Amino acid sequence: MRRKTRQISVGWVKVGGDAPIVVQSMTSTKTHQVEETLSQINRLAKAGCEIIRVAVPHREDLEALPDIVKNSPIPVIADIHFAPSYAFGSMEAGVHGIRINPGNIGKEEIVRDIVQEAKRKGVAIRIGVNSGSLEKDLLEKYGYPKAEALFESAMRWSEKFEKWGFYNFKVSIKGSDVLENIRANELFAQHTDIPLHIGITEAGMGLKGIVKSAVGIGILLYKGIGDTIRVSLTDDPEVEVETAYAILQSLGLRRRGIEIIACPTCGRIEVDLPKVVKEVEEKLKGLEKPLKVAIMGCVVNAIGEAREADLGLACGRGFAWLFKEGKPIKRVSEEEMVQALLEEVLNYDGKGKV
Ligand code: SF4
Repeated sequence: MRRKTRQISVGWVKVGGDAPIVVQSMTSTKTHQVEETLSQINRLAKAGCEIIRVAVPHREDLEALPDIVKNSPIPVIADIHFAPSYAFGSMEAGVHGIRINPGNIGKEEIVRDIVQEAKRKGVAIRIGVNSGSLEKDLLEKYGYPKAEALFESAMRWSEKFEKWGFYNFKVSIKGSDVLENIRANELFAQHTDIPLHIGITEAGMGLKGIVKSAVGIGILLYKGIGDTIRVSLTDDPEVEVETAYAILQSLGLRRRGIEIIACPTCGRIEVDLPKVVKEVEEKLKGLEKPLKVAIMGCVVNAIGEAREADLGLACGRGFAWLFKEGKPIKRVSEEEMVQALLEEVLNYDGKGKV
């Protein structure tokens, strides 16, 4: 069961409480290149990203923020490190949230001033606790950024924020070690009702990064922990968003687009299945219908194996059976099978099993 958290607002997007688990990402463009940044934000929003974070490392990035905020279709969070003046400047520019690692902002009074300004302006804050920027005293106490150290840092700052009368914040505790990360988030979840932003930092590239993120984020979500997620990959942020939805979908927490399942293939296969699946995925991209579509590699066992699907293709050599709700409805040639499936998807008027 999902952990009960208090709800906060990042612009018009609600995080925590009974809001759906929110998908976030971060732009990879130079923020000051406004056109590129906005075009990436638009692509990400189309892919399902609901809140976007942009880096603000230089003055020129700060100066670009008003334009970006004004034209972004989703709330914008400014990512601030080391430079308190950029935190104030970003809020002045109208961002909906800021992310700070209080440990690298400087004196406590400065953090308090930022918090008070956020309160005045209705801006949300994410307290970021990262293994790479943990406070010195905690590193000395624990020797390395273990779960207890990350948890203590997160609690320390959360308590201060609340003492200063500020509640519109969430916390992220991110370590690149998956198990320490899970433990630190579990500890925090046991002690507070503050919403958690979860993710595995520096997960890496390709398959390894995706697996690491899916395992770390997936385990936490399964335990009911996590109100918003970001998959961090050394890749195009659109892949991050796609991966985030795949994780949420596999746990039954969110759904986006049509769910396509494909058989694992075996010696009975009669077709270039990856090619067919790719083509169907491309053609169905962006279509919002609660449907499960199966693409299977042979006609022998396929329909039985794909009982859970609403529609599907069972491919033979040079042809395919198009099936609906477990029954074959039409035999089509290899050339026409993707189109035939597409038409059936568009005309499907059943309820769908998703
Ligand atoms: S559908 Fe056919 S090809 Fe695919 S795994 Fe099952 S038996 Fe093998």
